[in-house]
Amino acid sequence: MFVIRWFLRYHTFMEKISTLSLPSFEKGSVWLVGAGPGDPGLLTLHAYHALQHADIIVHDALVSPEILALANDNARLEPMGKRGGKSSPLQSDITTRLIELVAEGHKVLRLKGGDPFVFGRGAEEALPILDAGFQVRIVPGVTAGVAGSAYAGVPISDGKSNQVISFVTGHDKTGEVPAVNWQALAKSSPVIVFYMPMKHLAKIQDELQKAGRDQNELVCIVSKATTPDQQVCETTLANCVKDAKNSDIKSPALLIIGPTVAFRQSLMGCFS
Ligand code: SAH
Repeated sequence: MFVIRWFLRYHTFMEKISTLSLPSFEKGSVWLVGAGPGDPGLLTLHAYHALQHADIIVHDALVSPEILALANDNARLEPMGKRGGKSSPLQSDITTRLIELVAEGHKVLRLKGGDPFVFGRGAEEALPILDAGFQVRIVPGVTAGVAGSAYAGVPISDGKSNQVISFVTGHDKTGEVPAVNWQALAKSSPVIVFYMPMKHLAKIQDELQKAGRDQNELVCIVSKATTPDQQVCETTLANCVKDAKNSDIKSPALLIIGPTVAFRQSLMGCFS
């Protein structure tokens, strides 16, 4: 009975999707798609459609197994992604592989965590494929900085507390602390969301304090956000390095600093 009901619901869902006239996934093209931060419920319909129609899915390390399980049965999965700290393919190898596959005439789905253009090197992957004469469709995804913060109970903006939000990467292409104007950042952006904050956490803490942020300001570190393994460490700027270490919080993680972290106590139950 349950199976029949589930099947009917699924069938209706698929029928409704088919009336949306989503773009068709052409042979010999690449779709560069954001898969969101992990929870399959945060996939866009375009992303779901791409999973249903792709021949080959070249996915990065941040795409969750639950999302890959939505691929059509005939799709071939190729893991290929950059991952801080572990040996990972060069960006040029990824692009070369994508061009190789699309040149063979496949429908190639390049599936990336979050949004391809938010610290995701989306343009770096798309441009050489376009230069090689192949079609690329870009599908934005829900970025971790927005959904990951929300799943921890932290709205990244609030009418009373901030009109500016900043997204900052915790390390640059070479792995070093990025060249950020810390004074300007600290003064102009009440809420700052750091991607990849763990490697240089002590340096980030130090720069923010030197730039005048209050050491008692609330900080939230969210690891594996929106997945069943989500872990949250709520702390202060002064204690964030110590508390992150004690709570053994792991990458991928986000660090959010600012007044909206205080909403967590009221909102954290709204996502489970
Ligand atoms: N394009 C991605 C970001 C890629 S950079 C996006 O838009 O979300 C990789 C970093 O994103 C990770 O190191 C981490 O800081 C963050 N990230 C991605 N998924 C995450 C998740 N589920 N939980 C916490 N942080 C995540």
